[in-house]
Amino acid sequence: MRKPIIAGNWKLNKTVEEATELVEDIKVKIMDLDKNQMPTVIVSPVFTALKSIADILEHGQGIHLGAQNCYWQDSGAFTGEVSVPMLKDICVTYVIIGHSERRQYFGETDENINLKAKAILNHGLIPIICCGETLEQRESGQTDNVVKNQIIADLKDLTEEQTAKSVIAYEPVWAIGTGKTCESSEANRVIKLIRDTVAEVSGRDAADKIRILYGGSVKPSTIEEQMSQSDIDGALVGGASLKAEDFAQLIKGTMLVRAPK
Ligand code: PEP
Repeated sequence: MRKPIIAGNWKLNKTVEEATELVEDIKVKIMDLDKNQMPTVIVSPVFTALKSIADILEHGQGIHLGAQNCYWQDSGAFTGEVSVPMLKDICVTYVIIGHSERRQYFGETDENINLKAKAILNHGLIPIICCGETLEQRESGQTDNVVKNQIIADLKDLTEEQTAKSVIAYEPVWAIGTGKTCESSEANRVIKLIRDTVAEVSGRDAADKIRILYGGSVKPSTIEEQMSQSDIDGALVGGASLKAEDFAQLIKGTMLVRAPK
């Protein structure tokens, strides 16, 4: 059985002090939960807060540290970038790549995402590869093609083992930060299509193992229905991950329907 994931993407929010307060608050709220039954929990603060949060999480609270981006070269003349070994050095284990905001505002392409995925996996970290269609693409019937093509390009030349270890987040762009959640059955349909695409590219075994999340206005009131779907393995969460109580509710909601056996 695939272990579910609840991953918070804090985007461009929180000073170091605010970020550490939030993670302390989350820790308290999930303190009494059975760690063996908990989903994989990930928080992804801004770069400047990563080290302070890594220090707080040092003694293993069942919370993993994620970064929101990385560069694919290890070092060199690449002003403003942060490399995977640098993230590994401060105990980051997951890296979000290809988020629609990075594709839209920073020109991130599927070729860049593929290079980043390889660098992340080659250093033993796990990429959370985001994909999803815009409203215009959905309304013109292109959803399936857009998502398939993104996944084929993003996973290009990864080994089966690397693909199996990766995480994909299906995030319809029109659902991100808008309060408009994609119908659970429709999210499940697209996620199944993504899993079948992974099977075509990397084989059925990798497709059965890879964890595929839904993202887009996930909140405590939607999580149980989303997690009841056959192919949704968790959630990538923006807004609701900035409130400790809501984030804890997402973890608890996931445990109600999909506690690992
Ligand atoms: C996201 O940024 O990945 C996201 C899904 O945001 P929100 O939950 O706020 O829609």
